[in-house]
Amino acid sequence: MSRRKIAKRSNYKCRVCNQSLIGEEALKINLIVPNLLGGKEKYENMEMLHTSCCTQHNHLLKKYGEGKELPKIQKFFRDKNINPSSKEGISLMKLQFKKFKYANCKGK
Ligand SMILES: [Zn+2]
Repeated sequence: MSRRKIAKRSNYKCRVCNQSLIGEEALKINLIVPNLLGGKEKYENMEMLHTSCCTQHNHLLKKYGEGKELPKIQKFFRDKNINPSSKEGISLMKLQFKKFKYANCKGK
């Protein structure tokens, strides 16, 4: 698994803060569809984020819909027979991320 390849896929940009992944800041691999929704640790389901952005993302994910949305997504995947780690599952999950209100932690 190449970290560089994962970063390249997003044009070396962090999805959360929209800034470059190239720099001094530590990076972390995030699972787009998280484990608890059935996401697998495979290349298609990975994205590279700044460590602080990743922390923020996971925090928002837990709070998402006061925690009620995640079981709904799980059920949606099940009912529609969508594999959470498939292309379709991943792009559906990414659509949900658009609702996340990321704080502007880097003061751009
Ligand atoms: Zn970032």
